[in-house]
Formats: sequence, structure tokens, C-alpha cells
Amino acid sequence: MKYTASFMRRHGLVPLAEDALAVTVGCAAPPAAPIRRLLEAHHLRPVRFARLSPQDLLVRIQRAAAHGTEEEADAGIRRAGSSRAADADATDATDATDATDDAPAVNLVNSLLNDAVAQGASDIHVEAHRSAVPVRYRIDGRLVPAAGDGKRPLLAPGRLPAVSARLKVLAGLNAAERRRPQDGRFTARLTAGAIDVRFSSMPTVDGESLVLRLFPLGDDRLGLDELGMPQVVYGQVSARIERSAGLLLLCGPTGSGKTTTLHSALRRINRGDRKIITIEDPVEYRLDAEQIQTNEPAGLTFDSLLRRVLRQDPDVIMVGEIRDPETARLTARAALTGHLVLATVHSRRASDVRGRLIDLGVEPRLLDRLDPVLLSQRLVRLRCRSCKTARGCRECRFTGYRGRTGLFGMEGPGGERLTLADDGRAKCEAGLTTEEEVLWATT
Ligand SMILES: [Zn+2]
Repeated sequence: MKYTASFMRRHGLVPLAEDALAVTVGCAAPPAAPIRRLLEAHHLRPVRFARLSPQDLLVRIQRAAAHGTEEEADAGIRRAGSSRAADADATDATDATDATDDAPAVNLVNSLLNDAVAQGASDIHVEAHRSAVPVRYRIDGRLVPAAGDGKRPLLAPGRLPAVSARLKVLAGLNAAERRRPQDGRFTARLTAGAIDVRFSSMPTVDGESLVLRLFPLGDDRLGLDELGMPQVVYGQVSARIERSAGLLLLCGPTGSGKTTTLHSALRRINRGDRKIITIEDPVEYRLDAEQIQTNEPAGLTFDSLLRRVLRQDPDVIMVGEIRDPETARLTARAALTGHLVLATVHSRRASDVRGRLIDLGVEPRLLDRLDPVLLSQRLVRLRCRSCKTARGCRECRFTGYRGRTGLFGMEGPGGERLTLADDGRAKCEAGLTTEEEVLWATT
């Protein structure tokens, strides 16, 4: 909540949504110019107004007011004071300074997100240490310091609470809560385009650790033919997903690109003639399809959701992870009864997947009938194409690597076999990566 209850009631305004570039405020009728100017100065962003019915507005104001906290109410008193001044058409300049007390945090968060995206980061890590607040980016799977302008750190230690509060507001969380872990997500419209951000805060002895996971929303997501699949794997995967029924299973540790691969496959076949439903934990990348997020406390587990989803007449089902016998059984049954099912399983190698499913209670003869495509995946860094040296260059931040590609292993169908090591060897021989990378990724 960004406004006090009295401010909302007096002006008939309620904050609805907020991202890096704009704020949406609900109202029964657009407010007068001084109030508009005050809001823009307060948020430092364009403010859009969404028309609500008087009843809806009232309900939303009551709900927003009920969620206020003492700290926010304190801050709000000052803002309400300045809004009164604006009412009286007093000097807008002083109101603006008064109302923009968190402006540096807004700018810091914006520049942090813009910088991270420009550097190609997948995550931003802000840590609270005793005497510093190191900010690091995860680029191509490894953490590197976010140098800022190269001289001063991006974040002075004193700014951490304000930045944390700002991120919590964006993620719809309680900004005043610093003693409990919180997580949420928001969409940020940045210079380079829109991204989805998953935010997680964790209290530590020296403050709060913040992690932001960045998910691009644009067209820069990889197609199935851009993942680094060996021709034989690409051929089998392409053929399987064009069939009306069958099973494709993918294994590999967290962060090995499994979700990216499954989503690339789903985007390829999402042409409007098949109903696609995904069950994920959590939903990371957005698709133009029905995506469902598991919620264990609410009883929405993979197996219970899968059972219900089957009644929704789907053609294609994506199961985020098979980790219990019931989900394994339902997945196999769905694939045998005319659905295309894509799923991930927790095992290290494609050759272990069959055994894993049997451990989970799937009958071997069902697996024989399904003849699934079993894949394993890892990610390896690509050798920098600008320098092609171990010493590196500016382009690769002197690491010798830039960008990543998938390593794939495959079992079946029909007994066809390729190991991660086979693919690793081929990619080293082609000069795409190094033996060190293959070793790091596959052991
Ligand atoms: Zn280089």
C-alpha cells in the first residue's frame, strides 16, 4: 500500500498496479491536475488511471487500507499532508520533494535491473555483509561482481533497506517486514523490454539477502533448434512432439535448462489446434497456454492437479516434475490414453530414467508400450567467439566464455542411445566448448 487510508478516501484513489515504468491508479473519475502532478512526482513515473465503479472503488480502498502497516502509515502522514497542500493549489515543488522520499531507491532498482539485463544476467544477488552490500550477477551460470560504473559499488550499505522495501512493494509484499523470508514476482518494463522478475528475500544476521531471478518475456527466448541438440536428439524430439500422444521425459539437475527445453517444445507446437496445459512449480516462463502453479499447502499437488487437468480435455500436458508414485502413474496413463505428455524426472542420466519410473511404481510393460523419448540435459559455457583464448577479452569479461549451450543425452525410442559425454566430446571437437566445462557440467 502506498497511500494512507485518508488520502485514498478523500481523493477516491486506490493504487492498483506498479512496475518500473508506470503506475496504475483506480478511480471513479480521473482526478484534477494538481493531484495528478502530485502522484507523478511521488511515483516518478507516468500514472495511468483505470476507471472503477464506485462500489468496486470503495471495496478496494477498504481492502488496501486494511493492509497498511504502522511504518507505512507514518510515511503516509507526510504524503497526506502534502496532498492537502496540493488540494489548496500550493507550490507543487515542495510537495514533490516531500513526497519523493524513496526516489533514490526507485532509481537504484531501475538501474540495477537495466544493468543486469544489459549484461545478460539471469539472476541478481544482493547480499548483506557486515561492512558491505556486494551485488553479483549470475551470467552463464557463474556469479560475477556487478561493478556498477567500475568505481563505486552499486549499493551503499545504508541503501539496502530502501531497495529491499522498494522491491517488496513491486512484488506486492509487505515492505515493512524484514524478519521473515518473503517471495513474490512482478513484471518490469525496462529499456530493453519487459521482463518477469521473481523476488526472494531472506533475513540474515547482517540484514537481508535479496535474490532476483530474471525471466525475459520477449521474443529472445530460444527456439527448439537453438538449444544445442545434436541432430539425432533434435530429430527424435521434433518427431515426438508432433505426435498426438506419447511421452517425452527430461532429466538433469536444477539449472540445467530443462524448463527452457520443455517450453521451447511447447511453443513450437502451440499453433492453436491443441489444448496445452502445464502444471509447474513454480511457473517461470509464460506461454500462451493454460499454466497452473502447484500449491502444496492448498492441496494443489502435481498428482491432484494432474487428475483434474485430465478432465479439462487437454491434448498436451506438461508436468513440471514427476516426484511421487501417483504422479508417475497418472503421467504414464495420460500418455497411453491419447495425450502428449512432457515431463521432467529427477535423475542424472537418461539411462537412469526408466529405472526411476519403475521405482515410482510404473509397470515396465507400460514403459515398453510407451517407448518414451528419454533425455538428459546440462548446460556448458561456449568459448568466446571474439577472442577464442583462455585469457579472454572485454566481450567475455576476461573469462574466455560467452553464452551457453545445452549438452544432451538420449535413450530410445527404439533403443537409440547417446550419452552426455558423447555430445560433450563432439562439442569440444567442434571448438564450441572445453573439456573443463564438460567435466564441470557432467560430474
Ligand atoms: Zn573473449
